[in-house]
Amino acid sequence: MSITNVLWAGFLAGLLLLLWRAQTRRRVRRAEKVWKPDSLTTAVLEYAERTFFTEHPFRLVAKIDRAYGMPSGLLVLTELKRRPVPRAYRSDIVELSAQKVAIENSTSQRVANVAYVVVEHPFSKKRAPIPVQLLGESEIVALAQRYRDISARRTIPIKAERHALCASCGYKRQCGPRVLAVRYV
Ligand code: SF4
Repeated sequence: MSITNVLWAGFLAGLLLLLWRAQTRRRVRRAEKVWKPDSLTTAVLEYAERTFFTEHPFRLVAKIDRAYGMPSGLLVLTELKRRPVPRAYRSDIVELSAQKVAIENSTSQRVANVAYVVVEHPFSKKRAPIPVQLLGESEIVALAQRYRDISARRTIPIKAERHALCASCGYKRQCGPRVLAVRYV
C-alpha cells in the first residue's frame, strides 16, 4: 500500500471515529432530555463513572455515576438504579452523600445538597429522577464510626428497611435472628 493510501485510510478512520462520537453524544443528549429534571436543563455533564479518593475526614474512595455542572459551578450528582419501583432508599442517600464528601475533599469543587436517584424500570427502561437531600459530612463521619463499631462488635446493627439488602448482605450471618427477625410495619 502506498504512503498516500495509508494516509487516506488513517484520515477516514479518524473521521469515522469523530462521526461516531458525535452521534453517541447526540444519542445521550436525546435520551437525557426525556428524564432530566427541569433544574438540570442548563447543566452539562462534567464527570461520568469517575472515582474520587480522599484521606479526609477519613480514607474514602467513591465512584460516582454522573456529576452535572451547573452554570454557577456547583456540581449535581445523579446515580442510576435499576428497580421496578421508582423509589429512593436511605442507602442511596448515604452512597451519594459519601460521593459528595469524596469530591469536595479531593477537588476544589462544591457539590449541591440535593442529588438525584435516577430509577430505571428494568423492562420499560423508563427513567424517573427522584430528588434526595444529602447528608452532611458530620453525619457521614458518624456513619463510618458506627460501621467500625458494628464491625468490632461494640454495637449491633439495625435491620435494613429493604429485605433485599439483608438477603444479599455479606454480614447476615453475624447479624443473626436477633437483628433480622425485626419486622417493619
Ligand atoms: S444483614 Fe445486617 S448488616 Fe447486612 S444489611 Fe441486614 S441488618 Fe445490615
